[in-house]
Amino acid sequence: MNKEITVKSEKIFEGKIINLRVDTVELQNQKYAKREIVEHKGASAIIALNENDELILVKQYRKAVEEFLYEIPAGKINVAEEPRECALRELKEETGYEAKDIAKIYEIYSTPGFSNEKIYLFKAEDLTYTATNFDEDENIEVITISKSEAKKMLETGQITDSKTIVGILFWLNM
Ligand SMILES: [Mg+2]
Repeated sequence: MNKEITVKSEKIFEGKIINLRVDTVELQNQKYAKREIVEHKGASAIIALNENDELILVKQYRKAVEEFLYEIPAGKINVAEEPRECALRELKEETGYEAKDIAKIYEIYSTPGFSNEKIYLFKAEDLTYTATNFDEDENIEVITISKSEAKKMLETGQITDSKTIVGILFWLNM
């Protein structure tokens, strides 16, 4: 298999969170194709377990899908920030918990069909509660769930966010 060679790249939109570009690529058979690509700077997400071995989830409205979703704490990586720092910062901002030690579990391409977004998934234990510090545009409810509740929420389709499904399956198999 060969790589696709970019012969033309067109910037369509530059936003705060994503950029959109359309690349024209040359395929092996000398044919050309267009690739619509959403550029993203990456994000961190965190499986955080409290002292009762419960998972911390956040519930929030997601405009793109017009639904309230349960998700593990997560957020975009800031400029010059390491994925690990981002995970700790998002955990604290969204849930009020600080973690002493975290370990990276997986690196996940969320939607490689059209985006380079990579999610760094971490696991945290040994949490201490301090205070939340939401972003101004975030409206978040924090809940905790046991392993059996997590299993049920997966089975009944109440959890549909991919990074959260990956995180829960990892936790259930731990
Ligand atoms: Mg977030």
